[in-house]
This record gives sequence, structure tokens and C-alpha cells, in this order.
Amino acid sequence: MAKTTTIEVPDIGDFKDVEVIEVLISPGDRIEIDSPLITLESDKATMEVPSRHTGLVKALKVAIGDKVSMGSPIVEIAFETSAEMPGEDPGLENTATTKASGSTAGEIKDTAFGDINADIRTDVVVLGAGPGGYTAAFRAADLGKNTVLVERYPALGGVCLNVGCIPSKAYLHTAGILNETREMAARGVVFGEAKIDLPKLVAWKNRLVNRLAKGIAGLAKQRKVRVLQGIGTFVSPNLLRVQSEEESVTVAFEHAIIAVGSRAVEISAMGITPKTTDAPKDDPRLWNSSDALNPKTIPERLLVMGGGIIGLEMATLYNALGARITVVELQDSLIPGCDPDLVRPLKKRIDKQYENIFLSTRVTGIESRTEGLKVSFSGQGIDQAAGQGTGKNNAPESDIFDAVLVAVGRSPAGGQIAAEKAGVHVDERGFIPVDKKQRTNVPHIFAIGDVAGQPMLAHKAVHQGKVAAEAIANLPAQFDARAIPSVAYTDPEVAWMGLTETEAKEKGIEIEKGAFPWAASGRALGIGREEGMTKLIFDAKTKRLLGAGIVGRSA
Ligand code: FAD
Repeated sequence: MAKTTTIEVPDIGDFKDVEVIEVLISPGDRIEIDSPLITLESDKATMEVPSRHTGLVKALKVAIGDKVSMGSPIVEIAFETSAEMPGEDPGLENTATTKASGSTAGEIKDTAFGDINADIRTDVVVLGAGPGGYTAAFRAADLGKNTVLVERYPALGGVCLNVGCIPSKAYLHTAGILNETREMAARGVVFGEAKIDLPKLVAWKNRLVNRLAKGIAGLAKQRKVRVLQGIGTFVSPNLLRVQSEEESVTVAFEHAIIAVGSRAVEISAMGITPKTTDAPKDDPRLWNSSDALNPKTIPERLLVMGGGIIGLEMATLYNALGARITVVELQDSLIPGCDPDLVRPLKKRIDKQYENIFLSTRVTGIESRTEGLKVSFSGQGIDQAAGQGTGKNNAPESDIFDAVLVAVGRSPAGGQIAAEKAGVHVDERGFIPVDKKQRTNVPHIFAIGDVAGQPMLAHKAVHQGKVAAEAIANLPAQFDARAIPSVAYTDPEVAWMGLTETEAKEKGIEIEKGAFPWAASGRALGIGREEGMTKLIFDAKTKRLLGAGIVGRSA
């Protein structure tokens, strides 16, 4: 790497042969990045040309009155330390503009990316303001890092706050009350049938979400975290472009934390293209979880595709609101990944409440019709000859529903940020592999939350956000969770953490189990819900606790 460099006139748009009216430096001066070097004047504008480097002025290449254009040499400078030498960013080395000065996010202590020209310079840029992203940004700011948080939507909080955990749990509380009041009749307390004012319920949820989103914006302001609204994509290993409707802003960063989360898997990803016959295109009766959290009507018959946590929570809500529910699941059990004994009490209860639960069944097609969505099934229970289900919980060849909720999983958003321009590896599914410090293959770029791997849970994202920020601040942090709790806020609720019995069997780990049936709990009997169970899983030899599970009302 050369110990001297020549700074040239950068791209100054359409201007050519512009007169130098001021030379602001002399040989022997020490200049910093963004120090003004010369002033140019055309018939339309006067502009200063700033330095792209830190160093000592060796020789001037221009004088007052000279005419210069893009590429004309201005000054030769010498670097006094290796830290002052430009980094390896050939694409950006010669693209200085006069824009960057004045819009710096704060004082930069390290000049590793100092030669990159950008509108904003920052220690840490966090891409995505979900629970992972805003936690990381706040922790980085608390640790003294100058931080920029980039979010495509006007509201902060990501999926969890806006269309995930918070609205679903708020509605599920309402669902719980509806169910309890109905069940009180068996104990001699009879309420009238509930009337649901749907717009009011949705407006209440929106107020709650807005209030929390404003709270996050307030916390960002308090910490002087600069929030940029727009879609962020990488331009190079130290530069991010943020594109909003109005403008494009570049952010040069020393460290980046990718927290772009995940999106609902669409029906097309499962090889199903909804057919339209006599109904409108883009049928509004075909929902994802965000649609289900902003209902316009309560469908009479709802098909929930996917018997995982999100699908079953939505089924719990819509069942309480009065819809007739069918759940269809490709696997042979609900909540795949959870031990069958924990799922059993839930299955037993919803078997009675729901119209159907089709296990080991695949949706093979969806057709929009005026009378509803015609859904075709294939799977174990179908009597092929008759084209009928062979009884309750055995799917027919097809059936018509008033709405279909697609809750078949979420896919990480790693493929949508031009990560390759920063050299960050994204796997074929869209996850970004990280080490225990949440570092990607590019050491100054980190990834957290849903985009950094399973499980896709908000509390995991929050914790990883703290780890990444602390690793950037050189604190001894790492993500080394022995147990991450998973919770289904169904009725009954199901939760588990650590090793499951199924995993122990698969891995050949010898375990012992301690289980407590709630039928022996006065509290459970008192609330009329004795189906619950609590279990602990121990290492058979050491008796060390390896996992735990619980199912029951308010588990
Ligand atoms: P996200 O919350 O997905 O946030 C990512 C953010 O990045 C988004 O705001 C997005 O707009 C933004 N973004 C993406 N790309 C760009 C870009 N290029 N430029 C700028 N911004 C970008 N988890 C739980 O732990 N408990 C629950 O009870 C729970 N319930 C859920 C219920 C539902 C219906 C759903 C859908 C999810 C639920 N989850 C729950 C999962 C939880 O929401 C996620 O695990 C969590 O939100 C992940 O956080 P994150 O920070 O990784 O990403």
C-alpha cells in the first residue's frame, strides 16, 4: 500500500473546467477526512471539495485561477501512520462527493472506513427494528457507540410488536375471557351470548400496538439512536444504502448488525398457485397471519393451514370469536417438535371444539369461488373411491371455506439485503450463519434474531441483540443458551424448554422423568381445568435437569 496518495477532484456532476477560487491548505498542513481542500466556482454554484483522507499535505497540484474537472489532481498527501492508509475498497476509493460533511451521525473514533464517501458515518448500523434490532441498537448506544437504526416501516418494533407476539397475545386474552364466561354455565353462572364489535376490537389492538411502537421510538430518541426509515441494502462491506420513497441515503459503518427477521411463507412456495374461477384475483379470503390479526369479518368456516404454534394460536382466537375451525397439518402431530404428552391435552380439547383436525394431510390446491375457497386435500384419511373423508378428522377430497389462513412457517429475510455485496454468506434458505458472538463470516458484520437461525422467537432475538452489541464493544459476550423456552398461548397453553423426550430418544440420552398431573392440583380443579401436566426431564446418571414441559390453563 502506498505511503502517499493524490486526492483528485471527485465527480462534480455536469461541471467541467471549473475555476479554483480558493486553496484552503498549504504544504505541511495536517488534514483530516472531510477537511475542505479547495473551493470551486462555476456560473451556477460554489462548492468546497473535502479530503477523503487523513494525512500531511506534501505538494499542492492546483493554484487559484486553475480550471479543473473530475479527476484533476488537487494535492499529494503523505500518511503518517498505517491507520491513516485507506482500506481495501477499490470500488469506492475515487468516488468522493461533496455531500458527506455536515451530515455525520457523530464523531467517529476509528477511521477504518474513513475513506468511504457517505451521507452518514456511524460506529454501528442496525438493519431492522424488530425486537432483535432495537435491543441491539439500544445496547450499542448504551455502550457509547454512535448508532443508526434502519427500518423500512414507519413503526418500530418489527413483526413481534406490529403483526406478531403482541397483537396475537392481546387478542388471545380476549379469547380466554370469552371461553371462560361460556364455561361458567356448567357451574351455574350464565352470561348472555357475547356480541363482538370487531372494528372496536381491532381498533383497541391498534392503539395498544401504536402506544408500544411510540415507546420504542421514544427510547431511541433518549439514547440518541438515529432512526432512518427506508429499505436498507448493502453496497460494500462498510456501506449501506437506505432507500425511502423520497431519497436515497448512504451510511458508512464500522460495524453492522443484520436484524431483518423473517416473513410468512407464501402458499406459492408450497407449489400451490391459487386458481381463480369466478372470484376476484388476489382473493382477500386467503390470509397470512398479519391478515388474521386485522380481520374485517369473522369467517363462518376457517381453514388453518399449519398446526404449529402460530396456526393453533389463531385457531384458538377464531374459535372463541365464533368461527368453525378446521386445522390441516402435514405432519402426524400438532406442534411438531413438542413432546406428544404435552400436546395431548390440547388436542383432546380442541378435537371437541373444532370441526376437524386433519393430520398427515396436504393441501394440494386452492380455488377461489364466489361461495368460498375450494380447498383440495391429499393424505391418509381420504377415501379415494368415494372422494370423502373416512370420518371426523379424515379429510375429504375437497371442501369449501370462507377463509383460509396460511400459517405454514416463516422464511428468513437474509436473501433480500444484497448481503453478497458485503461478502456476507447467506445459506440457501435465507439464514445467515453466525458464531457464538453473532458474527457472520465478515468479522465486523453481525446477524441476530430470526435471520440468524432457529428458533424464531422474540426473546431469542432480544438476547442475541445484546450479545452482538456487547461483542462490538469488546465485552466478553456470547450466545450460549442451554434452553430457550417455546410457548404456545393456546387453550390449554403448552410450553417447553431444553431437551425434549423425543430428542433424548433420538440422541440416545438416558433420562428420567418427573411428571405431575394437574388432576391432583387443587388450584387446577378450582378453575375447572384438570387436564394439565408439568414434567421435568433429568439426566439418569447425574440427575441434572435437562428439560422441562408444561401444559394447562395459564401454564
Ligand atoms: P422481526 O421482528 O421480523 O423484525 C425485522 C424488521 O426488519 C422488520 O421490522 C422489517 O420491516 C425490517 N426489515 C427487513 N428487511 C429490511 C430492510 N432491507 N431494510 C429495512 N428494514 C428491514 N415470538 C415469541 O417469542 N413469542 C410469541 O408469542 C410470538 N408470537 C408470534 C405470533 C405471530 C403471529 C408471529 C408472526 C410471530 C410470533 N413470534 C413470537 C415470533 C417473533 O415475532 C419473531 O421471532 C421476532 O419478531 C423476530 O425478531 P427479529 O428482530 O429477528 O425480526
